[in-house]
This record gives sequence, structure tokens and C-alpha cells, in this order.
Amino acid sequence: MIDTSFPACFQPFLKELKKIRVDLSEIKYLLLTHSHDDHAGFAAELKEKTNCRIIAHKNSIDALKNGCIINVGRFLNGRAHIEMSLYNWVKRRNFEYSPVILNDEDIIVAGDEDILKTIGVDGRIIYTPGHTDDCISVILANGNAFVSDACMSNRSFLHYRPIEVYDLALVFESWRKIIENGAKTIYPAHGKPFTVEELIHYKKMYAP
Ligand SMILES: [Zn+2]
Ligand SMILES: [Zn+2]
Repeated sequence: MIDTSFPACFQPFLKELKKIRVDLSEIKYLLLTHSHDDHAGFAAELKEKTNCRIIAHKNSIDALKNGCIINVGRFLNGRAHIEMSLYNWVKRRNFEYSPVILNDEDIIVAGDEDILKTIGVDGRIIYTPGHTDDCISVILANGNAFVSDACMSNRSFLHYRPIEVYDLALVFESWRKIIENGAKTIYPAHGKPFTVEELIHYKKMYAP
């Protein structure tokens, strides 16, 4: 499984899982793309229920242990600022979640890693910082790329850039890695999937 969602989404998630007839016990690994509350929100609860092993980047460890966002990025621009501030206010978002206790069974990665093949997944983990400094993506051998918040397609004005950034130059560097690692279809965490050609187009525009 890649990422959870907000803490309050655990019960709805269990219902959805039932609908698609997946038993909780089938979840053996939970890869956390980064430590934000909308991604790691119910990781602790899921780990407790399933005993799944967590896969995360080393820069996520402190935030996961504390159960809150540590390094908050800046907004991409004024519009992003207004929209995210409104969203957070309406949702009464407090950026916290149950602390995730990591143990020796969990897998901590430091950069690009080939460990997925050892657990039966034909793909790679690549380090894709920029939105935060702890972002990792999964690129499968068939070209399906799960890039979390390295790209966002839920608002057209973003042009696939994240609405919050820690380092925009690093975002474009991560896009280059996603493209060069054979991505064909990009699955962002926020918004609909899109083709790598679109990403190439906007990368040329912003970081030629
Ligand atoms: Zn995020
Ligand atoms: Zn997110």
C-alpha cells in the first residue's frame, strides 16, 4: 500500500477496503511517500492492526515519531496561499496524527533504492524531494509512476507543480528523475493521472 490519508479517514478506508474485498491482513507493506498528515495520517493505526512493515525515507523519521509535520514549505504563489489557507481552515486541519513507532522490521531508505524487487514488486523507489525533503516516489517497470506530491494535478493553475514547496528547483530536478526513470503515466496523490509527455512539456517551460 502506498500512503494512507488524513487520520480521520481510517474508518472510511476500512469500509472501502471491504467493498473491493481486500482483507486487512493482505497489507504487508506500507510505503509512506512523506510524513505529511494527509499521507501518514492513519499509518500508526494501520500498522497496529496489520503489523505491516513501513517503508519510508530517513528524513521522515522525526516527523513520524512526533506525529506531526515538522518542515512546512512555502506556498507556490499567492493563489496557492489563499486556497490552501481556506482549505486548512474549513477542514480545521491541525497537521497532527498518531505517532508512528518504527522498529527494526521497517525499511528506511536514504535515496534511490532497488529494494521493491526483493518484496515482489517490479519497480524502484526514487528520492524526489522538493515538495518536502523526505519525498519518495515509486516507479513500476510498466511505467506507472506514483509520485505523491512531487506533482499535483488537482488545480489547473499549478501546471503540475506542488501547491506547497520546500525547494522549487528540487521539484524540477525530481521531475527530471521521474522522466528519466521510465515513467509513462504519472499518478499524483492529489488530482487525476496524466501522461509523462505533459510533465516533459511543463518541465521545459519552467526548467529548460
Ligand atoms: Zn505533502
Ligand atoms: Zn499531499
